[in-house]
Amino acid sequence: MDKIEHIGIAVKDLKTSNLLFEKLLGVASYKMEEVASEGVRTSFFKSGPNKIELLEATKEDSPIAKYIAKKGEGVHHIAFAVEDIRSELARLKGEGFAILNEEPKKGADNKLVAFLHPKTTNGVLVELCQEISNG
Ligand code: ZN
Repeated sequence: MDKIEHIGIAVKDLKTSNLLFEKLLGVASYKMEEVASEGVRTSFFKSGPNKIELLEATKEDSPIAKYIAKKGEGVHHIAFAVEDIRSELARLKGEGFAILNEEPKKGADNKLVAFLHPKTTNGVLVELCQEISNG
């Protein structure tokens, strides 16, 4: 695991939260992106070297919609940058962590992503993400 890549925050309304985080961080969102396969619309902010990802559900059965229905808005996941997501998943599986995505999938922001089940990580949804190289 390298650094924390970003922190994901579940929000009910992306427009409203974009304005809120603009005020909070003093910068505008630098990227909005919809990940149709996950039923989410995302918005990214930079705060110094750190990134915040806001996530809004685009359909009722989206994981974000379910999360908000159960727990309300708030911190949804912590994402760690990894060099090689498949070898890191194999290592974590060997350590006994429950992997939600055996096969990494394409996420927002040009990343391959996979999640660990919160039941084995003290209730924290952990995302691994690997930059997709363009070469
Ligand atoms: Zn994320």
